[in-house]
Amino acid sequence: MSHLAGKVAVVTGAARGIGASTAARLARDGATVAVVDVDEALTKETVAAIVGTGGEAIGVGCDVSDEADVAAAAQRIITEAGSIDILVNNAGVLRDNLLFKMSLSDWDTVLGVHLRGSFLWARKAQETMVANRWGKIVNLSSTSALGNRGQANYSAAKAGLQGFTRTLAIELGPFNINVNAVAPGFIDTAMTRATAARIGVDFTEVKKGIEHEVPLRRAGRPEDVANVVSALCSEDTSYVTGQVVYVAGGPQS
Ligand code: NAD
Repeated sequence: MSHLAGKVAVVTGAARGIGASTAARLARDGATVAVVDVDEALTKETVAAIVGTGGEAIGVGCDVSDEADVAAAAQRIITEAGSIDILVNNAGVLRDNLLFKMSLSDWDTVLGVHLRGSFLWARKAQETMVANRWGKIVNLSSTSALGNRGQANYSAAKAGLQGFTRTLAIELGPFNINVNAVAPGFIDTAMTRATAARIGVDFTEVKKGIEHEVPLRRAGRPEDVANVVSALCSEDTSYVTGQVVYVAGGPQS
């Protein structure tokens, strides 16, 4: 499969988890992938895995919530890889707490990485996409957008990304740029493992609960999300834009 040959994809938060899996998948699809994470050293494993299997990747350090960092990273990617054709806004953090215990800094950190970070990268990436009259943007939302106890900050950010997605689809559609969101349910990554550890619950037990609740009777894997991102970047879905695709093993309401 090389339907993305000649394209350059930026995947933020790609050092591990869903981002690493998405970077590997887009590289298998033929794209040159900029593996972006908060520290370039963190990206080494993902880059080595891609290059080791014949793909093309560069590791780029960038705090997505920092405007100057995003501008410098985008410039480096354009200089080294030639363009930005695909953007996957995946970088994420959690600072869960009930509202009455949530600090302003926990609110700002989560909104900063998910919403401000996606805005900064999309605003940069559209420059080359509009010039090329071709682009794909995929934003990582979550089932938490529908509301989740202890996640006022995260839920607001992930719901915000859905409105952001629809609006960019309207603004960028005339330039042949598709903008969609994927909204995963429970995916087995460092993020969900850290949540279990923080609340003092055994991860195996959490997973068992998910396997019982979810209609497809299993927890999600990073590849489940990566495969949908790949599909949304392919020409097979070129008439799909402004959509939120739930990747959650069951319907969401
Ligand atoms: P993860 O914690 O395993 O990975 C997140 C990555 O983002 C890390 O490599 C981290 O270093 C990077 N990152 C954090 N802050 C950053 C910043 N300021 N700049 C650049 N990089 C930064 O998380 P994951 O589970 O792979 O989640 C990936 C995305 O999917 C996130 O947006 C998350 O909210 C979303 N999501 C995850 C789940 C799940 O169940 N795991 C469910 C729904 C949505």
